[in-house]
Amino acid sequence: MSDYVLAIDAGTTGVTVLLFDKQAQVVRKLNREFAQHYPQPGWVEHDANEIWTVTEALIKEVLGDTLPSAVAAIGITNQRETTVLWDAETREPYHHAIVWQCRRTASRCDALQAHKDTFRNKTGLVVDAYFSGTKVEWILDNVPAARAGADAGRARFGTIDTWLVDRLTGGAAHVTDPTNASRTLMFDIHAKAWDDELLGLLNVPRSLLPEVKPSAGLFGTTDASVFGAEVPITGIAGDQQAALFGQGCVLPGQAKNTYGTGCFALLNAGTEPVLSQNGLLTTLGCDSEGKPVYCLEGSVFVGGAVIQWLRDMLKMVPSAPESEQVAGDSSEGVYLVPAFVGLGAPYWDQDARGVITGLTRGTDVSHIVRAALESIAFQSRDLIEALQADLGESGKLTELRVDGGACANGLLMQFQADLLGIPIVRPTNIETTAQGAAFLAGLGSGFWKSFAEVESVLGVDRTFEPKMGVEEREQLYAGWKEAVGRARSK
Ligand code: ADP
Repeated sequence: MSDYVLAIDAGTTGVTVLLFDKQAQVVRKLNREFAQHYPQPGWVEHDANEIWTVTEALIKEVLGDTLPSAVAAIGITNQRETTVLWDAETREPYHHAIVWQCRRTASRCDALQAHKDTFRNKTGLVVDAYFSGTKVEWILDNVPAARAGADAGRARFGTIDTWLVDRLTGGAAHVTDPTNASRTLMFDIHAKAWDDELLGLLNVPRSLLPEVKPSAGLFGTTDASVFGAEVPITGIAGDQQAALFGQGCVLPGQAKNTYGTGCFALLNAGTEPVLSQNGLLTTLGCDSEGKPVYCLEGSVFVGGAVIQWLRDMLKMVPSAPESEQVAGDSSEGVYLVPAFVGLGAPYWDQDARGVITGLTRGTDVSHIVRAALESIAFQSRDLIEALQADLGESGKLTELRVDGGACANGLLMQFQADLLGIPIVRPTNIETTAQGAAFLAGLGSGFWKSFAEVESVLGVDRTFEPKMGVEEREQLYAGWKEAVGRARSK
């Protein structure tokens, strides 16, 4: 009777619920957005209850006439780092969830820089408001009920995966997985355990923390009164790691880059931790059995968003896809560095700002649009260069798998292949994040016996082979480096 795996992709702006069949094909899929709350400039919150209500409704709608008992297992992937604190008895959140983008704890992070080496060595992260740790501390310090709940041992912390499992199991399970735990600043990625020294620095009581279980395996069973049947939840991973898994990058040296609003490059580095010397993060991902492996991660703040900017602010393209037609064959020496919110890895320059260089009397829209598309590929090459520098000779990538909205752009993908000198592989199903959650849940429940079984469905839509000569490629990249130099604040 168990015909499907149900995947919940709880993203930053919306939730998607999908039903996968035994052949790992998506048979039904629904998406709904939820409200973003901006209580102050730079602050971002979500209502965790609304995330659950939306998820619950989508599950019902996706199932339709299908009985919940036809679901063999549930997998969850989620926006990472977003923090919820709730009361185990009333089961109500003490406060809105504080979203990964929220900068409210930036000054607290400045103060914690004195301990940056401790955090970095244990967690693989930099001390930044982006991660969960200081968000937990903020709620405890600013919401008296949360502090009282913590003192009484009733308060629970979770990222969105943990919160959804709590709801699905009727409060029976308080759990997360290593990929999410590794984004909190509280988890030692070497010992693969919560760390008392870090908890002490962040003033977070251990009693708040969920149990960390392998990404593929039993996390809990749904409450029949909530879900309509008792179904095991057997897969959890944070969104970027789920995408890496859903792309089939389960072996050391395999990497993917996601071209969305920003770009996220993740590389499976294997079972030995690599601490980056080039501004990347070390984090946990999954091997073919869902066991933790080390990954290197780098992100670009403005990726596909530069095309939205051309569309909305400069009105140079009618739509993002049409950028491919508007762009010329060459940017004729024009470079656009979209450092609108500073530059991330490997530059880490908060005060850098965008520039367009190389303008002449002959520059037209086609050159600028092309330069914008190329900037996405140049920034991605910066990340890949950093990854390869950290790994040395053994880390030479042989191909890069891609996903995200902007990977639909053929011009961009071809230029990326040319610029990296390796093939770019675009899968048939670019819903890699949900696919990763489904794979983990199916493997964790025995619905699929091994990764090889699902790997066979990973179809390739198109492979972009590099065509450009080395000299031209390096000349273009040198021009980019010069343009970045002009965007930098120091
Ligand atoms: P996210 O999940 O980060 O919201 P998506 O993966 O949906 O983002 O990708 C949307 C981004 O990709 C937008 O910034 C948009 O400008 C860009 N984009 C979408 N399609 C194209 C395209 N064909 N060419 C270039 N950019 C595109």
